[in-house]
Amino acid sequence: MTTFDRVLIAGAGPVGLVAAANLVRHGIPVTVLEAGPDLSTESRASTFHPPTLDMLADLDVVKPLIEQGLIAPKLQYRNRRDGLIAQFDFGDIADQTRHPFRLQCEQSKLTRIIHDKLRGNPDFEIAFASPVRGVTENSDSVTVTVERGGRSEAHDYRWLIGADGARSDVRRALGIGFEGFTWPERYLVVSTPFDFYGAIPDLVSVSYMADPVRWHFLLQIPGLWRVMFRIAAEESDQLALSPDFAQALMAQVVPGIDRYEIVHTTLYRVHQRVAEAFRAGRAFLIGDAAHVNNPLGGMGMNGGIHDAINLTGRLIEVWRGNKPEAELERFDLQRRLVTKEHVERQSIQNKKNLESDDYEFRDWLRRTAADPALTRDYLLRVSMIGSLARAEQLG
Ligand SMILES: Cc1cc2nc3c(=O)[nH]c(=O)nc-3n(C[C@H](O)[C@H](O)[C@H](O)COP(=O)(O)OP(=O)(O)OC[C@H]3O[C@@H](n4cnc5c(N)ncnc54)[C@H](O)[C@@H]3O)c2cc1C
Repeated sequence: MTTFDRVLIAGAGPVGLVAAANLVRHGIPVTVLEAGPDLSTESRASTFHPPTLDMLADLDVVKPLIEQGLIAPKLQYRNRRDGLIAQFDFGDIADQTRHPFRLQCEQSKLTRIIHDKLRGNPDFEIAFASPVRGVTENSDSVTVTVERGGRSEAHDYRWLIGADGARSDVRRALGIGFEGFTWPERYLVVSTPFDFYGAIPDLVSVSYMADPVRWHFLLQIPGLWRVMFRIAAEESDQLALSPDFAQALMAQVVPGIDRYEIVHTTLYRVHQRVAEAFRAGRAFLIGDAAHVNNPLGGMGMNGGIHDAINLTGRLIEVWRGNKPEAELERFDLQRRLVTKEHVERQSIQNKKNLESDDYEFRDWLRRTAADPALTRDYLLRVSMIGSLARAEQLG
């Protein structure tokens, strides 16, 4: 079967569906092939940064997302000895974004909103239980092998976007390396409906508790708080997932409270990897297929959505004949460089900050919060507005 006049997107995660939404909005026919039987409901990303919300507003999906999420205008750093060290307010960069706040909302809500919006549009088709397995490039198309109902089928598309997550089959089929490393420790996320506002004075909905050994990170989502802890390499998965262990970690959050209602716990490994190339001819990698990083600072999905908008904006121009195919090189150049320069660097720095308890870090935080120019610079970096500006500078 020839489906030459379509773009194929592998993966219906947040990044693949944002790419689909932007192409369909511009009248470009898209097929999405998703390995799973339905959209994933897994509890993963829950932070949307200001420029990502601006992009989602352009796709006309931000209003329902905000309605289902929680607006977080401030973030803070604390430690056990001093309590509140510094607090930042995204209102200080309100001239740079239409959404001067983080939105706390699970990524599964975004995928459902986009899917429901695109369903029924003649330029959009999606097939579940249809993993992409093979890719062959031709001079003016790309042949994709898909597994469906126990059979293998081959179809031709004009372009292929691999948004099929960290273990990307598209990346493997293209023979693109995924260089980097895996941190020795793992992270445990404990979700509880406990009212932390009643127990911790001055708390805001995004709060980092710095500590060299037992740091934690408190993040409120609608109806729940997520508390993230570091699990040392020598602590086994079995131990980390035992209810008593989670309760013992939670007992360190508020002095005097040692029993919590725990709704669920998730343990996961953390990687820092960037693909050797984001483009191979007619095929592209975006989102976790192209890069993975630790979740501190919430940059994985956000960076992936920035990839999706950057790439599809160029594909639209090339598809319409307004720009030559060479335009697509700029996607690889811009997004790979800012992923390395900003997303990798900032997420590693965020991890170091949380593990720090030295005077220098506290002093730096306090000075930054007290100085409007330093505050602005800090907020532009953590909101990822800085990384987008840097991409633009690359031409
Ligand atoms: C606990 C946790 C918290 C996080 N918090 C944040 C956060 O707050 N902010 C943030 O920005 N990031 C966060 N992240 C990272 C974020 O979840 C990922 O970056 C994000 O899911 C990437 O989206 P994606 O669409 O690229 O990939 P995925 O969400 O992994 O989606 C890929 C899709 O492709 C499908 N697929 C796989 N193989 C194939 C195939 N061969 N063919 C077709 N389909 C296939 C999968 O089934 C899946 O539906 C967090 C991650 C974790 C684990």
